[in-house]
Amino acid sequence: STRRTPPAASARNAFVRVRGAREHNLKNVDVEIPRDALVVFSGISGSGKSSLAFGTLYAEAQRRYLESLSPYARRLIDQVGVPDVDAIEGLPPAVALQQQRGTASVRSSVGSVTTLSSLLRMLYSRAGSYPPKQPMLFAEDFSPNTPQGACPNCHGLGHVFEVTEQSMVPDPSLSIRERAIAAWPPAWHGQNQRDILVTLGYDVDIPWRDLPKKQRDWILFTEEQPVAPVYAGFTPAETRAALRRKEEPSYMGTFSGARRYVLHTFATTQSAMMKKRVARYMVGTVCPVCDGKRLKREALSVTFAGLDIGALSQLSLSAMAGALRPAAEGRFQAPAAYGTRSRAAGRKAQQARAAAGGPSHVGSSDVRRTPDLSEEKRIAAQRIAQDLVERIGTLEALGLGYLSMDRATPTLSPGELQRLRLATQIRSSLFGVVYVLDEPTAGLHPADGQALYHALDQLKASGNTLFVVEHDLEMLRRADWLVDVGPGAGEHGGQVLYSGPPKGLSTVKASVTAPYLFDTGRGKRRTPRTPAAWLELRGIHRNNLHGLDARFPIGAFTAVTGVSGSGKSSLVSQALVELVSEHVGHEPVREEPDSELPVPSSIERTRGRLHAGARHITRLVNVDQKPIGRTPRSNLATYTGLFDHVRRLFAATRTAKARRYSAGRFSFNVAQGRCDTCEGEGFVHVELLFMPSVYAPCPTCHGQRYNAKTLEVEWNGRNIAQVLGMTVEEALAFFADEAPVQRPLQLLRDIGLGYLRLGQPATELSGGEAQRIKLATELQRSQHGSSLYVLDEPTTGLHPADVDKLMAQLQGLVDAGNTVVVVEHDLRVVADADWVIDVGPGAGKQGGLIVAAGTPAQVSRATAGATASYLRRWFP
Ligand code: ADP
Ligand code: ADP
Ligand code: ZN
Ligand code: ZN
Repeated sequence: STRRTPPAASARNAFVRVRGAREHNLKNVDVEIPRDALVVFSGISGSGKSSLAFGTLYAEAQRRYLESLSPYARRLIDQVGVPDVDAIEGLPPAVALQQQRGTASVRSSVGSVTTLSSLLRMLYSRAGSYPPKQPMLFAEDFSPNTPQGACPNCHGLGHVFEVTEQSMVPDPSLSIRERAIAAWPPAWHGQNQRDILVTLGYDVDIPWRDLPKKQRDWILFTEEQPVAPVYAGFTPAETRAALRRKEEPSYMGTFSGARRYVLHTFATTQSAMMKKRVARYMVGTVCPVCDGKRLKREALSVTFAGLDIGALSQLSLSAMAGALRPAAEGRFQAPAAYGTRSRAAGRKAQQARAAAGGPSHVGSSDVRRTPDLSEEKRIAAQRIAQDLVERIGTLEALGLGYLSMDRATPTLSPGELQRLRLATQIRSSLFGVVYVLDEPTAGLHPADGQALYHALDQLKASGNTLFVVEHDLEMLRRADWLVDVGPGAGEHGGQVLYSGPPKGLSTVKASVTAPYLFDTGRGKRRTPRTPAAWLELRGIHRNNLHGLDARFPIGAFTAVTGVSGSGKSSLVSQALVELVSEHVGHEPVREEPDSELPVPSSIERTRGRLHAGARHITRLVNVDQKPIGRTPRSNLATYTGLFDHVRRLFAATRTAKARRYSAGRFSFNVAQGRCDTCEGEGFVHVELLFMPSVYAPCPTCHGQRYNAKTLEVEWNGRNIAQVLGMTVEEALAFFADEAPVQRPLQLLRDIGLGYLRLGQPATELSGGEAQRIKLATELQRSQHGSSLYVLDEPTTGLHPADVDKLMAQLQGLVDAGNTVVVVEHDLRVVADADWVIDVGPGAGKQGGLIVAAGTPAQVSRATAGATASYLRRWFP
């Protein structure tokens, strides 16, 4: 191979030399990047930063690594691809810490990602206090993800799904005839249930809430299945008369309680639609057997520092370190005695300790002491506890001490997850490695930034190199070396405009980054709008919010700020969204064409109420960062609806008409038109041993998705696969005269997505791209005003220049009479908001309050909260 690297130069600060990089849009790029340095790659969305950092440098390091393994592994190289580059010299092995795309398993948690769980299990197995006569357990017995450890009642999930009267009868003012029991089966089957109740003597014509409790409970929860005569079409009076006369019934019907129906259907139906329908009436509740701790009884009977492993895992990491610190320092407190208190009392005491956040209460007066740790146990305990406390220290340094070990990873933000992985790497004491990171500041308040910079410095100090794709200007300023890619996106980008220390960028005229990097922030600020009315929330309980009151200006742009973990998402994406969606009577607008498996409605819901102003809001749009689909079948063109127009254009061509091809023929979801081998996916799924499975291009159509016949049809010289291969920018020119296609394309371009290809599979989109696609789709609907738009960190992944485009769109929505609320860290956005709500002061239990609220200028003068001092720069 021509790619052989000469023996690595041993000089410090040697360079990585790239020659002729052409991956994606890169224009035969040559660049030299120092090692043992913090190198930041900047440039607008789609300019080619990731293609250089991940697509070329990381991919090449990965390829060399695979090549050094077995012949089997080498075969994979063909599947993962080889970067298009002439040569790279001086490249050390690389570790990528990318933001998680798609979904993580529900069973993965903070503990498993950081590997703290396995240490903790070892601690309990080897050094825990066991009840008398209980044999020692293995580490696996303390894992809810193994059959030996899992609670047999909830199978290790910690919660069970149940139905409640409220979930099955959402509107108790309706009568049974008016379908009060929403959970009943639809259509005929539901009417049948009602007719049986008439026969059984229940009043189906009074409001549900006026029925006696005993009757309501029986109708919903009975396990009996009485068989009764049914007189179809009879009124209750006629039914009673017919029964008296012992008239021949229409048929005999079997009654089934609503609970029985819902749970049985959920467990047994083959139909995804039915499953989804009944799931709506189920709610998750904490498993009564394990108390949500997910483990079998024997495992929970073992304690350390007075707590069972489940209780310890529920503490915040900081509190957990506190509980372990005495053992780590060789000071052993005696464990709790067994059988002296009821389970419930024990649980209360543990909760009290957890609430107090402190180890100092562990083993206090109500617990009898029995010093039963043997010498070996003490030694094992001290060593493992030390290790745990040190690792948690690293996590705390990255501002993650508020997380608990049992927190499921799907509930974490991508930024939190990346920082968890980063912390794990710092502890792994590798050196001579390149870490490639993707926007590590995502989700971080400027005040959290210090911890991150420190962590990166630590990695660098132990002899590693950091390649970081980043937009945060503070990070750009702190870099040892800046690689600015651009100038534009897609084919207008792909060049390295500058490679050197940050200050040298000021002379580079073509750079879109330079004006932002050297902006003093002293420009003219917007005059905040005066709100027409206020949307007031009272008594909110959610996560770390306890009885909070909050108000949002209507017809204005509000930025909610605060350090990571302070409660911003709890307030905005959860409480505000849930309360308003109840008020407007629908779930937040969110199309999910390829929606995933049904899951019962959320485990926890917000408590609280809308106190005032709700009448000004008639519609809620929650533009979140969830993927727009989970298979390569969903893409930009299908999601935005523009593909429908394109297919109609193809069906109207002369060739298509002659062959009687309808618009459906041009869908890769329809059998006639698509490639048979991959069924229109363009990719085939390859399962790999010991590695995550991958999608490889289809051997028949080579990713074109269609069969040869379909591809013969052309519109203005291009076939349908070629259209899907166009970027938004290219399509704008190609469909210049087609108004219905132009509008969605223009919106996508205006929002900074001009570089995306129409057929780009949803699985390849980042959370931020998915969010902007949703926003563009939303913007093409006609605007009536009086909608509430909620966005969680919409600037994630955006260059300041792209942020300006996005803000223009959002401000446009407010001008049209809508209300916009964003969770945001970007100070330029916050400074231009009409209203700022600063949540804090700290994270987790130390947060959950509104510490400052007002116009940006007012908040900049506030004396409390993490945001004020950073905003001051904009309001001198
Ligand atoms: P950035 O990281 O600067 O946002 P990227 O490197 O992701 O930019 O993208 C640069 C260009 O390469 C864009 O035009 C993008 O559409 C294209 N591109 C990115 N990923 C792929 C891919 N997997 N296949 C083809 N083109 C891609
Ligand atoms: P922010 O958005 O400001 O980063 P969050 O609202 O996400 O903060 O978190 C506030 C607190 O609530 C934190 O202690 C966090 O760990 C906790 N929390 C957030 N979401 C969940 C959840 N789904 N389950 C349990 N705890 C949560
Ligand atoms: Zn359980
Ligand atoms: Zn194919």
